[in-house]
Amino acid sequence: MKSSLVILYHREPHDEVIKDGKIHYVPKKSPNGIVPTLKSFFADANQGTWIAWKQVNEEQKDSFEERVNIEGEANYNVRRIPLDEEQVKQFYHITSKEAFWPILHSFPYHFTSETAEWENFKNINRLFAEAACEEAADDALIWVHDYNLWLVPQYIRELKPNARIAFFHHTPFPSVDVFNILPWRDAIVESLLCCDIVGFHVPRYSENFVNVARSLKPVKITKQEAVNGHMTPVGIALAEPEMTTQLSYEGQIVNIDAFPVGTNPQFIKSVLDKTETKNRLYQIKEELAGKKLIIAAGRVDYVKGNEEKLAAYGRLLERRPDLHGKISFVMTCVQSAPGMRVYKTAQSTIEQLVGQINGRYGKLDWMPIRLFTQPIPIPHLIAYYKAADICWTTPLRDGLNLVAKEYIVAHEGEDGVLVLSEFVGAAVELPEAILTNPYSLNGMDRAIEQALVMSEEEQKERMTKMYKTVTTYDVKYWADRLLDKFNSLKHETVSV
Ligand code: UDP
Repeated sequence: MKSSLVILYHREPHDEVIKDGKIHYVPKKSPNGIVPTLKSFFADANQGTWIAWKQVNEEQKDSFEERVNIEGEANYNVRRIPLDEEQVKQFYHITSKEAFWPILHSFPYHFTSETAEWENFKNINRLFAEAACEEAADDALIWVHDYNLWLVPQYIRELKPNARIAFFHHTPFPSVDVFNILPWRDAIVESLLCCDIVGFHVPRYSENFVNVARSLKPVKITKQEAVNGHMTPVGIALAEPEMTTQLSYEGQIVNIDAFPVGTNPQFIKSVLDKTETKNRLYQIKEELAGKKLIIAAGRVDYVKGNEEKLAAYGRLLERRPDLHGKISFVMTCVQSAPGMRVYKTAQSTIEQLVGQINGRYGKLDWMPIRLFTQPIPIPHLIAYYKAADICWTTPLRDGLNLVAKEYIVAHEGEDGVLVLSEFVGAAVELPEAILTNPYSLNGMDRAIEQALVMSEEEQKERMTKMYKTVTTYDVKYWADRLLDKFNSLKHETVSV
């Protein structure tokens, strides 16, 4: 049976467990994150397919299962594109992370195109498109995710001209001047203009895409609905997350939209209600013994601004000896994907900075920073969020930043302070956070000082507003809104 919904996402939606010498495919443990949300779209589909890549080495080739059924999840199956180690390295580690990633995050000096093998990237995108077309029913919706699969829409359009194609970017989308550094900009934009809808987190990213498209192709804007709101450095602050533009290009109509992804408040609340979490929270508070807790959670990545934050913490301790022994900073800096050379330097720099700060200011009974390089499991992290007086999340650039939203939910509108970078997508929805420019030393210093002295009344006032925003525009809202769009989405063309 062909599928009415085909989702292309680079990660598999399951874990593999070996039981009785056999591989079992089981749902991913945590109901948090984007994977469970995307899977929820299959509930309305007659039959669904999820397409992902899987690294397969020479000795695994014979036993490789192309199609996988996940235990307990019968309404869709997973189709896997086998890639060898070299293909993965080229496609994912090099082309995606060394060429596209720095451009998407406006870091042109980290960009390198010499090592990227464009032909390999094209071939892998073609394999995804072919698999999608084989799986999709005639009226199916084919939903492609993220920049790793930028060329897929065009291949689908060639193979299945009337397909309904949607695309969602989980990253920022940079301005024309930065995006157009990519030597493959024409091919990428040409492909995205084959979609029926292209989605981004916030209106600024949609605007950037429209400007990029217009700079490269004779694209016409056929409709545009603006949002009433004030401007923040990352875009328009949203009263309602809404912004629609329609483009026409060579007879094809392309809808451009902004849908900021939300978090899952029900899940976070259910974790908070567990006795285990309450015990953990009690233990964290005991250990803190009255110290203020600052939490920072994220990955090792130059875009996350970890070094800038550590430098700001170092300056804080230098300026304010009165805080020594009175604050505790818990920082998780998780390795993004093992073995990626682009992250190696970032990780050792973080470790060095933490070592210097702890070495300079630590005492027998006080460690200024506790650094975790292994991910804190989400239930533990939620206990830390709840215990933390301040959440310090100041990436230099981030598509959205779920950590900020999770922290707000964990505090249930009661207390806590969010120090948030102006350059993350979530800043558009959260103007009540202490918004700061992570490139400005003074700005960073002022923000953390302001957070440390914020009164309980002010904390409550700001958090109540942010809690309302985050629980209203949650992941279910995001999914429902997209579903509405998809249900009415037609493949439209106009004669030129
Ligand atoms: N996270 C986690 N353990 C950690 C650090 C982070 O489970 O030690 C989770 C966090 O709860 C969040 C996600 O990782 O859901 C990070 O998402 P975000 O949007 O902030 O950044 P991304 O890593 O997607 O760039």
